[in-house]
This record gives sequence, structure tokens and C-alpha cells, in this order.
Amino acid sequence: MYIYADNAATTALGEAAKQAMLPYFDGIYGNPSSLHSYGQRAKEALDKARRVVAEAIGAKKPAEILFTSGGSEADNQAIISAAALGKVQGKRHIISTKFEHHAVLHTLKKLEKQGFEIELLELPGNGILEPEAVRQAIRPDTALVTIMFANNEIGTIQPVQEIGAICRENGVLFHTDAVQAAGHLHINVEEQNIDFLSLSAHKFHGPKGTGVLYAKSGIALSRLIEGGGQERGRRAGTENIPVIIGLAAALKDAEEHLDENAAYVTRLRNYILDGLLEIPNTRLNGEREKRLPGNINVSFEGIEGESLLLLLDDKGIAASSGSACTSSSLLPSHVLLAIGVPQEVAHGSLRLSISEYTTQEEADYIIQSVKEVVEELRSISPVWDDLDKGVRGHVI
Ligand SMILES: *Cc1c(COP(=O)(O)O)cnc(C)c1O
Repeated sequence: MYIYADNAATTALGEAAKQAMLPYFDGIYGNPSSLHSYGQRAKEALDKARRVVAEAIGAKKPAEILFTSGGSEADNQAIISAAALGKVQGKRHIISTKFEHHAVLHTLKKLEKQGFEIELLELPGNGILEPEAVRQAIRPDTALVTIMFANNEIGTIQPVQEIGAICRENGVLFHTDAVQAAGHLHINVEEQNIDFLSLSAHKFHGPKGTGVLYAKSGIALSRLIEGGGQERGRRAGTENIPVIIGLAAALKDAEEHLDENAAYVTRLRNYILDGLLEIPNTRLNGEREKRLPGNINVSFEGIEGESLLLLLDDKGIAASSGSACTSSSLLPSHVLLAIGVPQEVAHGSLRLSISEYTTQEEADYIIQSVKEVVEELRSISPVWDDLDKGVRGHVI
């Protein structure tokens, strides 16, 4: 059996996106900036994709949608733009959290070197920020609040609407990295008081290398790429039409099936989770209810996440021990540390991210395999041996 349970890292391309893209690889290959009919056909498709995306996230105008190369670029551009706007007003304070994606954290690090003051809020143990913490952190010189919609490792969903309202009251720009949320949770930028939002197609069965930055109209964006006047002068370079069409088709399809998929995936997620929690000395990371439908993140005391992943891979199961970007390093996940998981427990963590393609049979196989592998690893683990005898270095 081969089971893909790493949908938070990337997803399989869906039929909706694939079929929508095909004509744009050979037939309709014009450059949307060209005036001839080849170009105009591509331009019509591009305009339509922009309208579809605007509608899917509740944006008022298609012009508020900017196509980028993915979630990382959208995060970079939103944060750099807000910082530039803040700077001219003498505002150099930026609020974020300790458990953001590196596309956000590393951009903030860069701004810190340029003289911005970055304040990363701590998170409670359940992985959900209190909106009041944001209110308390806001100062007269705060330029931006950037807080993710849902976390990529532990799946916890943040109270973005409340945080956005607090930002509005205080005249502070609000960006949310919604890369894990788009296509899985309801998004409405108007109702949720969002000024900037990032999303990425490959996290909802769309193609890789394409994403969106929503920027509320009236907010000027800084360009990361200089050149032609594409994307209303906000991102130079000939638009990647096939993947943009794929993004729009995948998002539309995900929106149309959102409630039905969320119900199915949540049920299967809880089934797997309950199965895994039968394993002794196992904990769930992040609050259970307010989390992405497909996210499971558990820690097994006394074992190493890396060994767990390799043995699961031998059984045909693709999972993750943290985010794909950190899983090659031996440092424990910054997200788990941010919610107070002890370092040694964080090392024994496993993230399974399922999708609507996951079946009941696969869920049973996952539970059975993880149980076997954890038992096998614990049988050879000196740490577990101590824990089993009651020598506790930490509390789970
Ligand atoms: C995957 C991911 C990104 C990066 O998106 P890319 O399209 O791969 O650049 C950013 N933020 C979060 C929360 C993600 O999960």
C-alpha cells in the first residue's frame, strides 16, 4: 500500500485543475500583454481567473488579486510592502508570532536588520492566540500585524476576524498567511477584516509555483521584481498562464466542495487521532477542535521522529515530523517549541496531514502501522526503557 499523508507539505494535482490547465500548454499559449488574438485569449483567461479568485475569498474587486510564484513570495511582498508604508510614517514596529512559517519569520528577520522592531508573540499551549494579546502589543508606531490563518504544523486556526478588527480599530495593517487555510476553511477578506492575504495553489490540489497575494484596494504594494508592467505594475514578468488557470480552477473546486470535504476529512482525522491516542504516552499537539480538518500532530514519548518517518516510509506511508523545511535539520520544530512542547518530546513528533482523497482503509492501515512502528522503536529506545521504569525526565 502507498499512502500519501503529507498534504500540508503539498497535495496531488486534482482533476479540476489538470483539465482546466491542459489547453493552455499548447493551444492557448499567447502572452497576455500581446494585442493580437493569441494574446487576447490568454488575457481573457487571466482576467477570468482573477475574478474567480476574488469571488472565492470575498474580495470586492478582481484588481485586489495579484498572482505570484507561491505562498512564500506573497508573504514576502505583503510584509515588505507594509514595512515600506510604515517607514514613511515613522512606524517601525511589527507584530507577529513565534510559530509563523519561515517565509514570514525570515522576512521579518531581514527587516529587523534594516532597523524595524519585530515583536513575536508567545502562544498558549493550545496553539491559539488570544486576540487581546495583539491589542496589548499594538503601539502608536506599529506598522503591521502578521499572523497566520492556520498553522502548517499543528493545524490550529487563529481568530483572524477578531485580530483583524483590533487592527482596524487601531489603524494597523493586517496580513494573514492563509496558505494552509485556503481551499480548506471559509475565507472572506471583507468580513474577516484582512488587508493582505497569502495563498498557494499546491496546498489545495492546484499546481506548484503559483499563489496569490490579496491586497485591499488603496494599499500600495512594493515591487519585488522589476521589469514590465504586468499585474498592474506590481509584479513584473510574463504571467504563468497555465498554472494561474489551474490555481483558479482548484480554488473554485475546493470552495464548491468545502463543507462536504471538511466534514469527511474531519471525521477521518478524528478516527485516526483516536486510534493513535490509544498508544501509551502519546499527546496531541495543538487544540483538537479549532484545527484544520486534515491535520494530526502527535508526540510519542521516548522515540525519534526521524526514525519514525523512515520506518513509516518503509510501510508506504508518507508523513512528516514537522514542516518540510525543517525536517532535514535536527533542531526540533520551532512551532512545537513555541507552544511549550518540551524539546525531547518535540523530537518524537509526527504530523499526518490527510485529504479528501484519503480512504477509511488507508486510515486503518495508518493506525496499525504507526502502532507497530512506535512499539518497535520503543523496544530499542534507552529513553523509553527509563520512562517505562518510571524514570521521568519530563512530563508529557
Ligand atoms: C507551504 C506554505 C508556505 C509556502 O508556500 P509556497 O507556495 O510553497 O511558497 C507559506 N506558508 C505556509 C503556512 C505554508 O504552509
